Amino acid sequence: MSETAVIVGAGQAGGRAAQALRKQGWQGRILLLGEEPEAPYERPPLSKEVLSAGADPLSVPIFKDGQLAALEVELETGFRVEALDVGARRLAGRGGRRLVWDRLVLATGARPRRLACPGAELEGVHLLRTAADARALAPELVEGRSVVLVGGGFIGLEVAASARKRGCRVTVVEAAGHLIGRAMGPKLSRHLRSLHIEQGVHIRLSGQVAAFEGSGRLETVLLADGTRMPAEVAVVGIGCLAEDALAAGAGLACEDGILTDAFAATSAPGVWAVGDCTRHENRWLGRRVRLESWENAELAPQVAAKAICGAPEPYAVVPWFWTDQYALNLQLLGLSGFEGELVWRGRPLEGPAIAFELEHGMIRGSALFDAGRERRPVRQLIELRARVRAEALADPDVALRDLAKSAAEGAAADESG
Ligand SMILES: Cc1cc2nc3c(=O)[nH]c(=O)nc-3n(C[C@H](O)[C@H](O)[C@H](O)COP(=O)(O)OP(=O)(O)OC[C@H]3O[C@@H](n4cnc5c(N)ncnc54)[C@H](O)[C@@H]3O)c2cc1C
Repeated sequence: MSETAVIVGAGQAGGRAAQALRKQGWQGRILLLGEEPEAPYERPPLSKEVLSAGADPLSVPIFKDGQLAALEVELETGFRVEALDVGARRLAGRGGRRLVWDRLVLATGARPRRLACPGAELEGVHLLRTAADARALAPELVEGRSVVLVGGGFIGLEVAASARKRGCRVTVVEAAGHLIGRAMGPKLSRHLRSLHIEQGVHIRLSGQVAAFEGSGRLETVLLADGTRMPAEVAVVGIGCLAEDALAAGAGLACEDGILTDAFAATSAPGVWAVGDCTRHENRWLGRRVRLESWENAELAPQVAAKAICGAPEPYAVVPWFWTDQYALNLQLLGLSGFEGELVWRGRPLEGPAIAFELEHGMIRGSALFDAGRERRPVRQLIELRARVRAEALADPDVALRDLAKSAAEGAAADESG
């Protein structure tokens, strides 16, 4: 009898899991269950083209026209799974509907953290995660309006850039002493700060929002030091929490994310988890990590599908993330934090530039400012843990692809010798 694979969560990772299962030869039924009303779509445009240029929030669907039918994937939208019984391999959805599975993939994603302060429910105060959130926010970004971004992370800064493009007056309030938090460190993030200041954004570091005020609709943002900032719109972008309550409720091991091994397997037999909802083992890093990134939502489903279909291959990649703000494309490789020694090739914001963070002669992480064309060789150097001279990295006349090539040859020679 044919077996059933059920995927809970029809976001990017859930959609990719369905595609990957078919690619790996899964012959049975595939049921893809998602709470949102839409078929799976990619989220990166939501804070960028959707806000800055009025693009359709569903402009990058995961399934092309006719692909769901061609792959025989049964998608049910508007279906929230309420409880799992992993012993009986059964789940319950809204209205008491029950379904059974032979293999289960959890792809429940993450949800934005809310600010627990007075006025957080006022009209004009937004979060940004879904197409519906973007549809609600986009028409609010009207020229001349004052917009406060609470949180100077990637989402906050992308929305700041989009709001500036729309002609809004923009302030970013960040609780820490620098933007972007752990992902970049102060040495690097100051370049983003300069960029935003150049573009007319007011940046308030070490600022805590104490309340949103207004009668019915947002009028002012009150900071803990008593400052009142007039604002018609506020967007809270203070990070996300892994959506792991469903898994935790079913007894799966979770620690701020569903714990998985390098094959995307959870602590329960027959249950895998992928994407933003996980704290997954990455063999390249040699540890578990929680990542909210497009690439993880692409790759982890492939790892799970291979394991489910009997061809397991461990997850082992150098983490990669990108952001677009104004005309800048910034890409981060590795998870270094950029607190240590930095070597620069080029000058950021003046043209293509790359920062390398070195440790014991190896590149721990790299930030590419408008230098995405070099991502491949830089990633290879990091992946191979190649020893590279700082002078060679800094010298624009030394081609990075040549450094990567000789590092790869050296690694191959080591393996064969
Ligand atoms: C605005 C924005 C911009 C971004 N930009 C970038 C970028 O530039 N670069 C980058 O690398 N990454 C970016 N990301 C991150 C990237 O989009 C996410 O990492 C990716 O979407 C994660 O995919 P996912 O499928 O794991 O989770 P999600 O996309 O969150 O999907 C999870 C789905 O599961 C559903 N669900 C949850 N619980 C249940 C339940 N119990 N029953 C049924 N359904 C359920 C949710 O409704 C949701 O639809 C961005 C994210 C956002 C929000």
